[in-house]
Amino acid sequence: MLLCNIKDSSEQVSFREAVLRGLGRKQGLFFPDRFETLSDVPGLLEMPFVPRSTAVMQHLLGDEIDAATVERMVTSAFDFPIAARALDDRVHALELFHGPSLAFKDFGARFMARCLAEFHDGGPMTILTATSGDTGAAVAHAYFGQPGIRVVILYPKGRVSPLQEKLFCTLGGNVHTVAVDADFDTCQQLVKQSFEDPELKEGLGLNSANSINIARLLAQVCYYFEAGAAVNTIENMVLSVPSGNFGNITAGLIARRIGLPYKRVIAATNANDTVPRFLASGHWDPNPTIETITNAMDISLPNNFPRVLELGERHGLSLENLLSSLALDDDETRAAMRTLHRRGYLADPHSALAWAALDRCLEPGEEGVFLCTAHPAKFMEVIQETLNLEVPLPAELAAVRGKTVLSSTIAGDFLALKRELTTVC
Ligand SMILES: *Cc1c(COP(=O)(O)O)cnc(C)c1O
Repeated sequence: MLLCNIKDSSEQVSFREAVLRGLGRKQGLFFPDRFETLSDVPGLLEMPFVPRSTAVMQHLLGDEIDAATVERMVTSAFDFPIAARALDDRVHALELFHGPSLAFKDFGARFMARCLAEFHDGGPMTILTATSGDTGAAVAHAYFGQPGIRVVILYPKGRVSPLQEKLFCTLGGNVHTVAVDADFDTCQQLVKQSFEDPELKEGLGLNSANSINIARLLAQVCYYFEAGAAVNTIENMVLSVPSGNFGNITAGLIARRIGLPYKRVIAATNANDTVPRFLASGHWDPNPTIETITNAMDISLPNNFPRVLELGERHGLSLENLLSSLALDDDETRAAMRTLHRRGYLADPHSALAWAALDRCLEPGEEGVFLCTAHPAKFMEVIQETLNLEVPLPAELAAVRGKTVLSSTIAGDFLALKRELTTVC
């Protein structure tokens, strides 16, 4: 697969290089130069998730990675359930949160980890990342036990919920967690500084496992086919995707481009509504980021949006007909959680927001699928406030509750981190 830098099309790289490098020159995103259409989509839709996903990834990557390797990577990355639940005869919830970190980011993070394990050249490789909670769990579980890769995760000491801390700080093995006596911004700053330090960057083979990595996006294409398999008539299917950085919806549009013939897709945002305003007015005019109860989407500069535009401009998708965007505020999100709960479905705030956007836009004759991106137990506090309800602990959280946190603690300065890194790596 040949990929181009969106900001500088003269920079062309293989999939392997794009995965290892993350970003291109001028901080440009890599994006496939061309897409081929799948030949037998109805046949694919009849297959179970893992074999179908293997076929989709072989279609995308087959010119660079042999079929058996793709099969091994997909099978080991997607080793947890996915579920489409019918709420009524025309609306389905696509539950993407049954992985080890209870969020849809497991799909992308785990596939990317298999790519790095496959591609790295035997030298040292250290994934260094800062987290305020959620990303840490997805990354820790994705790389746990991957041969030749060490993971170091920084987080602000005492500012991650105890349960969340247990989810990523009790693994051990090649996952090393560091509680930093500082806030999240300092943790991020420390990671940045490490990447600028040649001794660390080269010596430890630092890689960021960043969310803009193309490996994560391509892996996410697979579950849109599961949505397609859940509905009666795929040509009538409308998707609703709770969107922050717009990676998830980019994957949905790639699925459309390679042949999944759904009707249209809604990008549902919270009050951070840069994209809905842009689609309405043609002006890119981000406001300061606002805090909401759907905090994984508190983003006013969605860094994958250039890839969405690229699909329209260079890859022939007619975005005017395919893509719409709608913003909902916290009150509307809570109202959606209540309505869903009354109808017997417990949704986390992000998933409820996607349902509300779908509920507003679905027209007669259409069938809707909204993407459920996090397990309700990850947002217990909001659920308790909104529904006055205790969420039972899922097995993944119950299993770690009694375990010991293995993190070391350091001061929030670069020398302390450098000492820690050279000791553990
Ligand atoms: C990351 C995240 C999103 C947003 O996904 P993007 O790909 O950034 O648009 C939505 N919901 C949850 C729970 C998330 O963690």
